Amino acid sequence: MLAANFGRLAEETRRIEAAGADWIHLDVMDGHFVPNLTVGPQVVADLRPVTKLPLDVHLMIESPQNYIPLFIEAGADRVTIHAEAVKDLAQVVRQIRDRGAKVGLTLRPQTGIEVLRPCLEEIDLALLMTVNPGFGGQAFIPSVLPKIEALRKQFNRYIQVDGGINHETARRTQSAGADVMVAGTYIFRAADAKQAIAALRGEGPPPEVRSTTSGREYMA
Ligand code: ZN
Repeated sequence: MLAANFGRLAEETRRIEAAGADWIHLDVMDGHFVPNLTVGPQVVADLRPVTKLPLDVHLMIESPQNYIPLFIEAGADRVTIHAEAVKDLAQVVRQIRDRGAKVGLTLRPQTGIEVLRPCLEEIDLALLMTVNPGFGGQAFIPSVLPKIEALRKQFNRYIQVDGGINHETARRTQSAGADVMVAGTYIFRAADAKQAIAALRGEGPPPEVRSTTSGREYMA
């Protein structure tokens, strides 16, 4: 939802659900772990009754252990934290699982996948960031593709990619072994969100791009 109009988040969420999205991905940023600010648990709570889709909450924050209970109580179905943001990864993984949410671990593009190894049996999803976290509208970093291939050989649950995903980069990450595509700008800038989501699945041609967006060009 990072590329949505935040003044109309409920409406945008319904529109994306109707367009065929499987999950709603919310990027939470704290101005410390990444140099940008977005939303907190109240927004998760307010969106919970708006959609039947799982709320997939990606925490780009320092000390996520202090906020995980709030996000899960607010209705997060899945919580993904950055391995770089915590000292005791296993403990935070357990904290999420014990509270009944699906657990994801994520890595910046430069972080090696060996960091995940001790927790691979305990997690439901690994997110390999395909841009440096912090802002929407960035270009895909292709050097992440070998990381996806290497991780796929040792991990049989979801491998998610996030950042610079369009119909072309989706295909490349899928060939490497990724199976969950996070797309913001590509969907929200499309004239037809349904066509954009179908194109990400490899079902049909890419959409026309809208000439104007929701006023977030300053982030590009
Ligand atoms: Zn994200």
